[in-house]
Amino acid sequence: MSFSLPELKYAYNALEPYIDETTMRIHHTKHHQAYIDNLNKALEGTEHAGWDIKRLIRNLPDLPENLRTAVRNNGGGHYNHNLFWENLGPVGSSKLDGKLLDLINETFGSFEQFQELFENAGKTQFGSGWAWLTLADGKLSVEKTANQDSPLTNGHVPLLGADVWEHAYYLKYQNRRPEYLKNFWKVVNWQEVTRRLESAMQG
Ligand code: MN
Repeated sequence: MSFSLPELKYAYNALEPYIDETTMRIHHTKHHQAYIDNLNKALEGTEHAGWDIKRLIRNLPDLPENLRTAVRNNGGGHYNHNLFWENLGPVGSSKLDGKLLDLINETFGSFEQFQELFENAGKTQFGSGWAWLTLADGKLSVEKTANQDSPLTNGHVPLLGADVWEHAYYLKYQNRRPEYLKNFWKVVNWQEVTRRLESAMQG
């Protein structure tokens, strides 16, 4: 089995003006595609070639050393971006409510306090990486990772991720990562985040 680029469920310009069309197009067709191509190349002809992406990321520490870095960077890149595209949706297309909102209020005090923690994780990630909302040991948690590392490798389930690599925002925001993170909330697909929470809670 080799990995391939998933189609977006919305148009490249659907997240305007918060994430611009050119950034989305290049991010999806060039950056994500490159992770996939490099991952397929690294796995080709190995005994791990048939593994699905979650299994690869979860078992990263146990992979043979000559595969580990390629899977960490490119497998992580593939897994994280799959999640990122599904995280996002057109402005006003979804609302945070129900079980996820209750759990956020219960865990972080309020939605605003959660937003502040999450944005802060993204702002303080030195260099490239991700800010995350995860389910860790049965609890909601905000974390950050460097490069394409995934919380999944630590047994945490990523529910929502914000890509803070410059390729995700530089054309529109240049060095203004905090502004990109503020606007990120306008295009989150909360239904998808809720679906992930429910699936994670079912084990
Ligand atoms: Mn990216």
